[in-house]
Amino acid sequence: MSVLVFIEGADGSIKKSSLEAVVYAASLQQGEVTALYMGQIDQAELEKAGNYGAAKILHANDERLNNGVIQAYANVLAQAVEKTAAKIVVLAKSALGDPVAARVAIKTNAGFVSNVTSLPDTSGGGFKVTRSIYTGKAFATEEMTSDVKIIAIRKNAVELKESGGSAAVEVFDAQLSDADFGVKITGTEKQEGDVLLPEAEIVVSGGRGLKGPENWGIIEDLAKVLGAATGCSKPVSDMDWRPHHEHVGQTGVKVSPNLYIAVGISGAIQHLAGVNASKVIVVINKDEEAPFFKAADYGIVGDAFEVVPKLTEALKAAR
Ligand SMILES: Cc1cc2nc3c(=O)[nH]c(=O)nc-3n(C[C@H](O)[C@H](O)[C@H](O)COP(=O)(O)OP(=O)(O)OC[C@H]3O[C@@H](n4cnc5c(N)ncnc54)[C@H](O)[C@@H]3O)c2cc1C
Repeated sequence: MSVLVFIEGADGSIKKSSLEAVVYAASLQQGEVTALYMGQIDQAELEKAGNYGAAKILHANDERLNNGVIQAYANVLAQAVEKTAAKIVVLAKSALGDPVAARVAIKTNAGFVSNVTSLPDTSGGGFKVTRSIYTGKAFATEEMTSDVKIIAIRKNAVELKESGGSAAVEVFDAQLSDADFGVKITGTEKQEGDVLLPEAEIVVSGGRGLKGPENWGIIEDLAKVLGAATGCSKPVSDMDWRPHHEHVGQTGVKVSPNLYIAVGISGAIQHLAGVNASKVIVVINKDEEAPFFKAADYGIVGDAFEVVPKLTEALKAAR
């Protein structure tokens, strides 16, 4: 048996969430792990996947695949499933991964489960996966009985472990036609900042309690010392205190970091819908009745303008 992993890149690097997918695929112990990358990228960067458990890397090195065109990606991935005779396909859940996987599931008659949070239970010859549902509030167990199984894993659900292995890169000659590029990406607006919010392991978010954009320095300083991405509540981005791509919640980015720190955010249900999947939630709010405390693992009742700089200094001192 073999396992195929679809890996995505950003800014010339393999995405961390895709490396997590490689680790997951190797942990399945269901045969050799082959990774597939589409678009142009340095070979040395691709070889990194070997250090996370891939035995081989297929590279569809076609300039037209530099942008994630869903139809073309699905076509190439389906061809790779056929070539490798993979029975399990693993990928990171993402805005690109989900629609690509859904198309491939149709093409290959596969079962597809997304937002998977742990390794499958294969006892008794079955294949049961657990996935996060209701924005992280509950889990569903689903049995996969199809011959080919496609699993999209939730970001940060897998610990990134280096295996010390290496993998050779092989060119993958996918058959593509103009019809695969019926949709063209004509422009992209890039998120600013060192750490991308959807990929972040730690997020520091600010709400209306910060009073104005001029006070965001305390959020940025704390984020910097933690190597975190910055986020915000909806009204904050609506008022242009922060860019819209930082807006977290039901109508914004849904995050699943290991640590989410909410500063001056009340914890409305629409905000919680975007952060429920966080492993640990820390809330800093001056109102001890703020609803966010009910969802928090740790809470500090206090004024953000006193608490946050002290926390930042303490973290700096501890390093
Ligand atoms: C259809 C719909 C969709 C929505 N989608 C989203 C969404 O995706 N994301 C989202 O965030 N919201 C969303 N909202 C809005 C949501 O209902 C809340 O209004 C919003 O989350 C509140 O933002 P906030 O917590 O920053 O502000 P507030 O509710 O004003 O809360 C500010 C908090 O800061 C605290 N505070 C004040 N001063 C300090 C201080 N000095 N130190 C510490 N704490 C302080 C206060 O005690 C308070 O708890 C949506 C609403 C609707 C109707």
